[in-house]
Amino acid sequence: MNSADVGALKSLLSSSQKIVIIPHKNPDGDAIGAALALNFYLKSTGHHTTVITPNDYPQFLKWMPGTGEVVNFEKENVEATKAIEEAAVIFTVDFNELGRIGPMQETVRSARATFVMVDHHQSPADYASIMYSDINMSSTCEMIFHMIVALGGLELITSDMADCLYAGIVTDTGSFKYASTTGKTHRVAATLIDKGAHSAEIHKNIFDTNTASRLHLLGCALKNMVILPEFSTAYISLSQEELDTHQFKKGDTEGFVNYGLTLEGIRFAVIFIENKEEGIIKISLRSEGDFSVNEFARKYFEGGGHTNAAGGKSNRNMKDTIHYFRSLLPEHKTALLG
Ligand code: 5GP
Ligand code: MN
Repeated sequence: MNSADVGALKSLLSSSQKIVIIPHKNPDGDAIGAALALNFYLKSTGHHTTVITPNDYPQFLKWMPGTGEVVNFEKENVEATKAIEEAAVIFTVDFNELGRIGPMQETVRSARATFVMVDHHQSPADYASIMYSDINMSSTCEMIFHMIVALGGLELITSDMADCLYAGIVTDTGSFKYASTTGKTHRVAATLIDKGAHSAEIHKNIFDTNTASRLHLLGCALKNMVILPEFSTAYISLSQEELDTHQFKKGDTEGFVNYGLTLEGIRFAVIFIENKEEGIIKISLRSEGDFSVNEFARKYFEGGGHTNAAGGKSNRNMKDTIHYFRSLLPEHKTALLG
């Protein structure tokens, strides 16, 4: 965080404020971890805070300290709207354009608050007065750690906060294995363990806790995988019917897309997941190396993210979405074969 932003943030937080903290829609461990840790920090420094999620988040993240205080905009609309309207400061964490919070954006756009963005995705929009945006950071949780330190709050990091921040770092680095993991990331993680983060339990909660129905859904997804060696590409589709058959719950498909990349020669992996309720196909894209799934998702699927991990959506049905996707591959062949 640059010194001008640190100064501006210190001044903004120099007296007790009403503050709202918002992660993106379908929040993952990084978004929720960042929001909850920041919530603890701001409360401990005398502010009145509310964490508002655009919608619900997966059960496997509900062990996180502070989770019980989260207000769900979809379910607790009146309370959430009131907090947004009354806020003097709104922190948006782990996203950088208001479209990422879905229908909640209308209420947020008309708020009178000063906006602070903390985020590590590409191409930030310009709604925030204070922008802490760094695409080289492993995770928003790593950034929240640096921000708290810059504000002089290192000593205020409790084991609850450390658990939340560690969970976010572990989520976005795939347990420290993705290329976004730096020496600094490891040093932050080490400090968080020293502060009391329960690292083994966190890894287990996030990556190694399953239900039988989720494992069977994974089996179905892997069976559905189509491998296109000529484009170094593998994709998976899951229909609403397949999700229903396996008692799909939010979060169950987390990580499925990565299996494609474990195949030798595959550098681009995609999963298409039907969502009948929203009338869309939700798409997750992953790559290895220079092929930018952020650009691909942005150009063709109303999405975005990072170079090697991005998301998007399609309003076509599954068959047409996949047909369209496959029609795009030839023009990217050179980049895909790297
Ligand atoms: P996932 O595929 O795990 O949902 O998301 C991968 C990355 O892309 C995450 O950093 C996530 O925030 C981002 N992402 C997912 N869906 C979207 C989307 O619809 N639009 C944008 N801009 N980013 C997305
Ligand atoms: Mn993130």
